[in-house]
Amino acid sequence: MELKKLPDIDVPWELVEALKCFPVKRQVEHCGVSFLVGPFDFYAQCPQCGTRIKVRSSSALMEIEDVFDAVFEWMLKPGAADLVRQRQQEIKADKDE
Ligand SMILES: [Zn+2]
Repeated sequence: MELKKLPDIDVPWELVEALKCFPVKRQVEHCGVSFLVGPFDFYAQCPQCGTRIKVRSSSALMEIEDVFDAVFEWMLKPGAADLVRQRQQEIKADKDE
């Protein structure tokens, strides 16, 4: 069987490391108080004044969040969820060794 050639992309080591330690909460400050929001949220509501604030940029520049979004989109493909679960189990088993 011939493997389909995937595009050659130099994925920087820094990106992989940044993905691994990406926080599951984002700290936001408004009105002198800080609060936590989901890292993929575009907007948050200040608990102090109720203002809706933009917490994630939607510029043309790619950010780590965009890499996650691309993976999340891939995960919507049929069968992808099973692959994710299987791979997560393998990764977890490797870590436990
Ligand atoms: Zn506020």
